[in-house]
Amino acid sequence: MSASGPARRWAIVGGGTAGLAAALFLARAGHEVVLFERVANPEPVGAGILIQPTGMAVLRELGLLQRVLARGERIERLYGLTSYGRMVLDLGYADLRPDLFGLGIHRGALFSVLWDAVCADSRIERRMGVEITSLDEGSGGVTLAGEGFDRVVVASGARSPLRAPGATVKPYPWGALWFVAKQNPKPGVLFQRYRDTRQMIGLLPSGDGTVSCFWSLRADALPGWRAAGLDAWKAEVRALMPEAPIDEVHSIDEVIFAPYFDVVAPRWHTERVVWLGDAAHAMSPQLGQGANLALQDAAALAQVDDFAEYTRRRTQQLRFYSLASRMLTPFFQSSWPFLAPGRDLVAGPLHAWGWYRRQMLTSLAGTKTGFFSEMALP
Ligand SMILES: Cc1cc2nc3c(=O)[nH]c(=O)nc-3n(C[C@H](O)[C@H](O)[C@H](O)COP(=O)(O)OP(=O)(O)OC[C@H]3O[C@@H](n4cnc5c(N)ncnc54)[C@H](O)[C@@H]3O)c2cc1C
Repeated sequence: MSASGPARRWAIVGGGTAGLAAALFLARAGHEVVLFERVANPEPVGAGILIQPTGMAVLRELGLLQRVLARGERIERLYGLTSYGRMVLDLGYADLRPDLFGLGIHRGALFSVLWDAVCADSRIERRMGVEITSLDEGSGGVTLAGEGFDRVVVASGARSPLRAPGATVKPYPWGALWFVAKQNPKPGVLFQRYRDTRQMIGLLPSGDGTVSCFWSLRADALPGWRAAGLDAWKAEVRALMPEAPIDEVHSIDEVIFAPYFDVVAPRWHTERVVWLGDAAHAMSPQLGQGANLALQDAAALAQVDDFAEYTRRRTQQLRFYSLASRMLTPFFQSSWPFLAPGRDLVAGPLHAWGWYRRQMLTSLAGTKTGFFSEMALP
């Protein structure tokens, strides 16, 4: 029962980061792979995301890193200031190891590179425009869309209708508005500003000379934000980050809202079905790990003997990031402004403490496996 075992017939549900990477790993291990994606003509869409050294290591394993690097922008540093100019976040990857960096890239550009590789692989059959909402697991295999498979990978994202045993799914009350602009005031830096915990803006250079801009918003405030109109929002953005390229937005329809979800499950497998990526463990993007974890899930799947072993191998890192993102997010995106004074008081000075700095950097790089443990840097 393994990705690395005898050749089998696999179904993959979902052609996002996790599903495409898993398809490539499985096909290259000699399996027959059928990929089901509900979108008929997938297009490269989505805001910028930050790929960490851990995610880049998986892309290197797939032979796709150079193509991805060519589409993104190197991020050397994360820098965050309060509305009144106090430093809360200042982390340079090179402090962890001189050759390390993050990669800002549009989710769509990452998708394109993975998708092109999938299309070039004749062992992967693509079934587009097919939505999978149920499956039937029996002793001999799994039936899905009227066909039989030996194994199934569920990689259908945070809103997947298929859930791992015992999984809980909670929408987080906050999410982010985003748009893409051309003027990038801080090349090579993920730059953020915060007004207590209720306002936050972030600029992520995302390659091709663009920057992705994120604005924190409660999901239930979205109708009010629309009703207030673009000019009112532009004034708020300028007040928090004067250098934000907000003038490039000409219509409210150019701004998209991304909700956050917390998905938590005690295990990510049954005997013949395994859950990867956001379908298994969606979390707020505060630590910038979702796509990286999805890539690492796919790489781990390719190495295991059975799915219980997959859950065992992935547990420490996934539990840490899931818990850490749930603990950290309220300090930056919540209706609890009383958390901000403590954050603003201690976070800056803590950077001078080597242990704290290292914990923050390894958390960012994606190598943490617990509050006091980490894996080797790739
Ligand atoms: C605002 C924001 C910023 C983020 N920033 C970062 C970041 O900086 N770094 C980072 O690593 N991550 C970031 N993330 C998270 C990252 O985007 C996700 O973790 C990652 O895309 C998850 O990949 P996935 O393949 O699991 O799911 P998805 O990318 O959601 O792919 C799921 C796929 O399944 C398909 N599908 C869904 N349902 C079905 C069905 N029933 N049948 C068939 N197909 C189906 C969908 O159409 C889609 O193609 C961010 C997320 C948000 C919202």
